Amino acid sequence: MQNKFCMLIDGKWVEAESEENFEVINPATSKVIAKVPAGGREDVRKALKAAERVFKEWGNLPPVQRAKFMHKAANSIRKHEEEISRLLTQEQGKPLLEARGEIRGAADAIDYYAEEAHRILGEVIPTNSAKQHSLVIKQPIGVVAAIGPWNYPVSLLIWKLAPALIAGCTVVAKPASYTPLSAIRTFECFVEAGIPVGVLNLVTGPGSIVGDELVKNPAAKKIAFTGETHTGKEIMSKAGTNLKRLSLELGGSCPLIVCEDADLESAVKGGVYRSFRNMGQVCNSINRIYVDKAVASRFIEMFVEETKRLKIGNGLKEPEVDLGPMITDEQRKHTEEHIKDAISKGARVLCGGKEPEGEKFKRGFFFEPTVLTEVNHAMLIMQEETFGPVAPIMVVNDMEEVVKLANDTRYGLVSYVYTKDLKRAISIAESLECGTVDINNVSGGEVPYPYGGWKESGLGLELSHYGLEEYLEVKHIRVDIGR
Ligand code: NAD
Repeated sequence: MQNKFCMLIDGKWVEAESEENFEVINPATSKVIAKVPAGGREDVRKALKAAERVFKEWGNLPPVQRAKFMHKAANSIRKHEEEISRLLTQEQGKPLLEARGEIRGAADAIDYYAEEAHRILGEVIPTNSAKQHSLVIKQPIGVVAAIGPWNYPVSLLIWKLAPALIAGCTVVAKPASYTPLSAIRTFECFVEAGIPVGVLNLVTGPGSIVGDELVKNPAAKKIAFTGETHTGKEIMSKAGTNLKRLSLELGGSCPLIVCEDADLESAVKGGVYRSFRNMGQVCNSINRIYVDKAVASRFIEMFVEETKRLKIGNGLKEPEVDLGPMITDEQRKHTEEHIKDAISKGARVLCGGKEPEGEKFKRGFFFEPTVLTEVNHAMLIMQEETFGPVAPIMVVNDMEEVVKLANDTRYGLVSYVYTKDLKRAISIAESLECGTVDINNVSGGEVPYPYGGWKESGLGLELSHYGLEEYLEVKHIRVDIGR
């Protein structure tokens, strides 16, 4: 594997001005796999300058011409899918099959937004004068700073830069420092597609420097951020100085509600998949399960059985495993602390709760998928985002109680409900304080549908045509035609 990667600034692949680098580690082996430039404030300023310089030209291109570059970039990503996916598995830990899914999905998202070129629509509003027309047009916001997390390092940057590019914005992106490699390789595909110099820039380096400069520098007119809630709050207060446009996709504590009439087999299948996928390191992972007492013992037994079937391993060597390692030892310890806190307050471990045994797990940050019962809302695991492979199950008496419990959190991202009763499903869905409700499925975020958090899970929306609006300013033009 190539082990030196660069930043993309003003059309050139460059080192950091300081010539310093940081190391990227494979969480399945804890070995260093690459060095990446530790960008600083000066590197960010250069990237912003380039993006500012070419903004007018890019923004003035007809959207269908911008779309051509994007379709080409999507095809280039498809061509290099295997290479990018392997980088993704090595830096992030998700099994190769899942990594391929993320890269394919990212290419599809670029095509989706390229097709929106025909739908950046304005309006003509009637006025009370026959001489006047009121036109409402949409224009690109300007330079966008796209800041991404490590759990879906390619798709979550693409979900920002694809709508930004088709809207006519230019971009400076910053990937998370645990996972910059697959993003860098993806940006090479845009260069291969001939994207004009300066339109797309990528700066690697610490959030406290590169991210901070992007947020504070007045050249970036919009911050599109995915990450932790506390980082989002910090960004919001700093971005307030210039009243920058913001979209913040933040943490979650997502409930699964299983009613007494649920199809238990599908609730268990969906529940296990959504609790443990990517080692529970997903914003829409199921963090809390509420099951009606009438079906609780059968559901818990089936859930534990299904969990025990999950295979763990190094997803590069064994692409068919279900689960890889966690991103860092720190993230694993954070998960263990939540489990310990729950046990100290009365929870019982039904499976998992420890590192798997065996030589092949020794050097990586592996952890067994864990099921807890006898949990309550005094436990951290039921209040805070664990971001680890733990499914706490609480038995409930009635559905009024369950909605109160599900809403008893500062987060409001996604909720999942299993019931065969349509009336009940809609009534629960309407009562839940969150941006997405999946009924009898665990789909999560997909490109054609709006995705965003309520309460402390975020601001603004990503995906779908709503996601595109986040990169457009509305302008009202009143014209007097003098007749
Ligand atoms: P994080 O907040 O630690 O970091 C996210 C990005 O912000 C990184 O690139 C980081 O370098 C940068 N950053 C850190 N401090 C910064 C600062 N002061 N100013 C500007 N940038 C800064 O988050 P993470 O640990 O990478 O990601 C996990 C979190 O992301 C979880 O809380 C998860 O729920 C959330 N997430 C949310 C969604 C969603 O759509 N709502 C999707 C995926 C992940």
